[in-house]
Amino acid sequence: MLKDRYQLFINGEYVESSNGEFFETHNPATGEVIATVAKASKEDVDKAVAAARTAFEEGKWPKFTGAKRARLLNKIAGIMTERFEELVRAEVLNSGKTVDAAKGQIMQAIEDFEFYAAAAMTLGGETKPVPNGFFNYTVKEPIGVCGQIIPWNYPLMMAAWKIAPALAAGCTVVLKPASPTPITAYMLAEICHEAGVPAGVVNVITGSGSEIGPYMTEHPGIDKVAFTGETETGKDIMARASVTLKRVTLELGGKSPNIVFDDCDIDAAVDGSLFGIFYNTGQSCEARSRLFVHEKIYDTFMEKFLEKANRIRVGNPFEKGVHVGAVISSSHEKVIDGYVKLAVEEGGEILYGGKRPEGPEFEKGNWYMPTIIGNVTNNMRVAQEEIFGPVVVVIKFSDENDVIRQANDTIFGLGSAIWTKDHGRAHRVAAAIRAGIVMVNSPISAFPGTPFGGYKQSGFGRELALETLNLYTETKSVISYV
Ligand code: NAD
Repeated sequence: MLKDRYQLFINGEYVESSNGEFFETHNPATGEVIATVAKASKEDVDKAVAAARTAFEEGKWPKFTGAKRARLLNKIAGIMTERFEELVRAEVLNSGKTVDAAKGQIMQAIEDFEFYAAAAMTLGGETKPVPNGFFNYTVKEPIGVCGQIIPWNYPLMMAAWKIAPALAAGCTVVLKPASPTPITAYMLAEICHEAGVPAGVVNVITGSGSEIGPYMTEHPGIDKVAFTGETETGKDIMARASVTLKRVTLELGGKSPNIVFDDCDIDAAVDGSLFGIFYNTGQSCEARSRLFVHEKIYDTFMEKFLEKANRIRVGNPFEKGVHVGAVISSSHEKVIDGYVKLAVEEGGEILYGGKRPEGPEFEKGNWYMPTIIGNVTNNMRVAQEEIFGPVVVVIKFSDENDVIRQANDTIFGLGSAIWTKDHGRAHRVAAAIRAGIVMVNSPISAFPGTPFGGYKQSGFGRELALETLNLYTETKSVISYV
């Protein structure tokens, strides 16, 4: 059940913020206030960190066997499954994403807990070759208290990507969801508690990112910061974390290339390219926002692409058959519109969209039409900067090496996609692209067991996969003389 008011979740219970301050959280599709949410002060951060520290040092969590942690993680997945519809409703209401998008993401969040439940039992060290008379083994130990800071675009899935591996490794956490979308993170904290995770292991606090975010990043009681968000925020976090030499992992922005070669299955490429940019209202870090189309098939591809874009339904995210929901906030809608205007100033041509949709349905809330901009070159700002909305720029190309060069000509390196029937080309281009994820004839960028993360200014460290479990551990080397 949704509450009217969310308090901070610290040490296994809801508590008021120390200064009694609250902020409102909205339904992006209508602008209505759906709940008030406690605004944590620095004092509340201290309380949450102290709870996580006690749970780590005095509590039993890091000492639980992998099997016991695994049972609890599976139990969390079980309760999420039971409360699936309720979680979906809350996510749609608070983020404006469509029901189908929310369902897919929450299903993945459940599978993430199941994946890390299994992974919790695999955490182990190695023995290393050492001179005669010596014996060496390594042990993987949890890093400690983790500050986890997440964005608003995938509220529950991002919370799961952060909490599940940390818990599997034996860490305790203080999670800060983004201010526009706090509700499902609080629901997840409740679920962890209901599953039997001891008090203080999972704490959730909300508040101003620019106030408590830096405070968390510099906090001497936090051992690791795991951050997902904008590249500029990531840079600030890395600088501040250096003061206490915290472990840092950063999942940041992107401007992912989507390369459509002339030998592809055009219909599959059209569908995959539409999904690649307009899924989640384009508010995806790995949104394929730079569409490179080979000149030989440009006209045929674009005719189909525009025709199908015309059929995309924008509207009430709860309604069946709607493909694109609301934009997170009115300020973000303005940012998106500003980029579209900039594209035109730079010489781009709006081939579709480029404005707020019209009609009574869109009188309230925050909306933007799926937007396709042609006549773009890769050096324009709209091709270089992350827009984080339903806007794709289209660039014509003629040569494989040249398109690889253009695809790599960006500060980012998160996602990328290639559409071709030539396997040799697929793997040659996949090898040449400087990005953490390459999708070959695939619209999907991640599964629970596959590493997700960026090259270059898209960050470092990985989410999902066994690799991430290791990023929540330290390695201890024990050398004994026998
Ligand atoms: P953001 O950087 O503005 O905020 C992210 C989080 O950081 C929020 O919780 C915010 O309150 C907090 N924050 C803000 N300033 C802070 C500071 N100085 N110190 C510490 N914390 C601070 O990002 P956003 O607008 O919420 O999310 C969109 C961004 O997230 C996009 O750039 C997108 O590409 C990125 N993203 C990346 C991935 C990935 O896996 N690489 C996934 C999802 C989103």
